[in-house]
Amino acid sequence: MPPSPRQSELPTVKISPRGTTRLKTGHVWVYRSDIVSADGVLPGSLVRVSDHRGKSLGTALYSSSSQIAIRMIMRETASRDRAASEPVVAFPALLRQRIADAIAYREVLVHDTEAYRVVFSEADFLPGLIVDRYSDILSLQILTQAMDAEPIREAILAELTTRLHPASIIERVDPRVRELETLPPRASGLLQGDKTSTRFTMNSIQFHFDALEGQKTGAFLDQRENYAAAAHYAHGDALDLFCYQGGFALHLAPHCEHVTGVDSSRPALEVADQNAALNHSLLGSKEIEWIEANAFDLLKDYSSPARPNEPRRYDTIVLDPPAFAKSKRDLDAALRGYKELNLRALKMLRPGGILVTCSCSYHVSQPDFLEMLASAALDAHRTLRLIEVRGQAKDHPVLLNVPETAYLKCVIASVSN
Ligand code: SAH
Repeated sequence: MPPSPRQSELPTVKISPRGTTRLKTGHVWVYRSDIVSADGVLPGSLVRVSDHRGKSLGTALYSSSSQIAIRMIMRETASRDRAASEPVVAFPALLRQRIADAIAYREVLVHDTEAYRVVFSEADFLPGLIVDRYSDILSLQILTQAMDAEPIREAILAELTTRLHPASIIERVDPRVRELETLPPRASGLLQGDKTSTRFTMNSIQFHFDALEGQKTGAFLDQRENYAAAAHYAHGDALDLFCYQGGFALHLAPHCEHVTGVDSSRPALEVADQNAALNHSLLGSKEIEWIEANAFDLLKDYSSPARPNEPRRYDTIVLDPPAFAKSKRDLDAALRGYKELNLRALKMLRPGGILVTCSCSYHVSQPDFLEMLASAALDAHRTLRLIEVRGQAKDHPVLLNVPETAYLKCVIASVSN
C-alpha cells in the first residue's frame, strides 16, 4: 500500500486574509479571487490550505476553474497546528468513511420512505457529491473536478455498493457544471447494473421512478416532510400549483374532497396521472384533475373580478414554483413574482383555508420570504396566521455555518378571514 500522503507533502494553496476570515467563520469555500498562489497545483487535487503567512488552515479539494476554488474537507485543529507532518488520511479512504457516516446519519433521521438523499455535498462533508436513493436504484451527481477523478469514482461506487446493495447506480450529468469545471463531456447513464426504473413508497404514497432520458422521473425529495405536513392540514377543495409529478397533490388527495394539480409540463402531468393510478387503493374513487397551464395565467383568470358569477374558491392551495432567483441580482424580480402568486392565491382561499407556499431560491432568505407573504396578505385584505415555517427534509442537512446549504422555505398558514 502506498504510504498516506502527509499534509506537508501536499501542494499548497495560499489564500488571502479575506479567504482566511471566511474559513474562520466556519465556511468551507474560498473563492478564486481570494487565492494568493496555487503554483503547479493540478486540477482536482487534494491540497494544503495556508493563510498568506504560510500557516496551515487545513486540507481541501481544489478546482482550477470554478469560482469556488477551495472546498475544505478537513480543518486544522489546535493540536494539529503544530504537527503539519502528521499523516492525512488518503482521500479515497476518507471519502468512504464519510459516505458510511452519511448513510448512518439517515438511518437515525429518515423514516417512512424508500426515497431520500443519501449524500448532500458540503452538508455531508463531501463537497461535489450528491447521491439520491430511489428504492433499489441510486442516482448520483458529480459536481467537481476532485470527485470526478477515476479512483474517487471507484471508491464512491464501492462504498455505496457495500453499504446499500443497489440493483443499479445511475449518473445524472449536468453538462453546464462539467463545462464550468472544465471536465470532458459525459453522458448521463448507468454506471453499474442495468435497472433504470422502479417504484418507491414515500409517506405511504407510491411513485414511479424512471431514469431513462426523455421520460425522466423522480421526486423533489427535499419536500418529503413538507408533503406530510401539508397533508396534515389540507381539507376541502385543493389546488396544487406547479405540481410536477403530483408530489403534493397525491399527498393531499386522501384528506380532501377534490384536488386539482396544475403544471405547464405535459410529460410531468402524464407521470402524475400514472402516479395517481398507482395509488388507486388509497384514493378509491377520488380523481385528481390535472391541468396543463401556465400557473400565472390560470391564477389571473381564476382570481379575476371579471368572473363574479363563478368565483373560484379553494380550502387548500399549494404554491411550489421553480426557483425565481437564480442569482442575487434577480432578488427583487423574484420577490415580485412570489408576491403576485401568493396575493392571488390568498384571494382565492376561503376563510379557514390553508396556504402552503414554498420557495427553493437560496437567494430569497426566510425573512425576505415572510416579509413578502405579509405584504401579500395586507394587499389581499386577508389575515394570515402562521402554522409552520419549515425548510428542507432532514436528509438535506443544513450546515449552520454554510448558509448556502439552507435553500428551501415552506410556510403553512391559515387564512382567518
Ligand atoms: N411541487 C412539485 C415540484 C415543483 S417543481 C413536487 O413537489 O414534486 C416546479 C414545476 O413548475 C415544474 O414541474 C415545472 O414544469 C413547473 N412550471 C414552471 N413554470 C411554470 C408555469 N409558469 N406554470 C406552471 N408550471 C410551471
